[in-house]
Amino acid sequence: MGSRTHRWQGWSEVFCVECGREGELIGPLCHDCYSRKKVIVDLPQYIDLTLCSHCSSFLMGGRWAETESVKEAVEMLLMEAISAPNGMQVDGLTVQLTEKDQRTFEAAVAVELVSEGHRFDRKLTTTVRLKHGSCKECSKQRGNYYEAIIQLRGDDRALTADVERRMERQVTDRIDAMRAGSREVFLTKVEHVKGGVDFYVSTAQSARIISREFQDSFSAEFKESSSLWGRQDGRDVYRVTFLVRLPRFGVGDVITCDSQDYYIRTMSKGVVRCIALPSGEERQMKVHDLESCTVSCQASGIGNAIVLTERDSELQLLDPDSMEPVDVIKPRGFRRDGEQIRFVRTSTGTHVLSDSW
Ligand SMILES: [Zn+2]
Ligand SMILES: [Zn+2]
Repeated sequence: MGSRTHRWQGWSEVFCVECGREGELIGPLCHDCYSRKKVIVDLPQYIDLTLCSHCSSFLMGGRWAETESVKEAVEMLLMEAISAPNGMQVDGLTVQLTEKDQRTFEAAVAVELVSEGHRFDRKLTTTVRLKHGSCKECSKQRGNYYEAIIQLRGDDRALTADVERRMERQVTDRIDAMRAGSREVFLTKVEHVKGGVDFYVSTAQSARIISREFQDSFSAEFKESSSLWGRQDGRDVYRVTFLVRLPRFGVGDVITCDSQDYYIRTMSKGVVRCIALPSGEERQMKVHDLESCTVSCQASGIGNAIVLTERDSELQLLDPDSMEPVDVIKPRGFRRDGEQIRFVRTSTGTHVLSDSW
């Protein structure tokens, strides 16, 4: 008896209460009836897509987001706008856009939904209305927004054009790299002023990082000062000034200190590693201790001379100024890779620089 009752109950369960069809059921309904009656998916009639006119971002839920294409942006907006029944998940969504006019697209949307292991497909349409705006970051940039100024200066005299160019390159490269990680970072403007360069930077944090890097890699000194500039979006906005002073000398320069010439190999965190000329002896000194030095030859001004003969401790060069042979002492650890060698003349002597330096 028990088995018969069970069998009858079992049979009643395989027929859809709606259409009476036999087969696998979802609750009391077959897949088709369930799909028709329960899987009600809706899209708004219009979707507004606001694109930034200056970059590749679009407005989504009151915020600006990056997008690769209009299609991707529309798909992201549709995922937000679609309404699916409770307990159902939108598993996939693809869209085909047909341009109706410059500001309107017809969107054919294919949606795949999942509920308790059952899949349902829906095809819907909506109209995408294209709008143009300016995202927060682009508005800032176009409004000359900045939070910080890096004032790059020389120690006691104006930076040379060559140094200014190199430093400008350094700052723009670093800003570009940081911008890849955060759109908030940008260089608003660069101003060449008397004595150096001013960099207007969008965030104080990025300007601080760059100033510290100048300190680390060029042994620059920096001072930070800030002042309340105003209020924006309900918060105080400060403008920070970083006064960065580069030492008078840099890597590759030849300097003279107490009648001794040095070639500068590295500078980091206030420590200068240099080579005494002509002996070739390595020295480490503090930037502070070299305050009274003179720059005898900047890296960019060091020329070459042709080597005529090389002996154990000396070289005979063709002096590029007089075109006469000149004897020069070979510094310790000297190496020569070619026919020419870097050649410096200072008030204290005539030197060659090893190719290993
Ligand atoms: Zn049915
Ligand atoms: Zn933008």
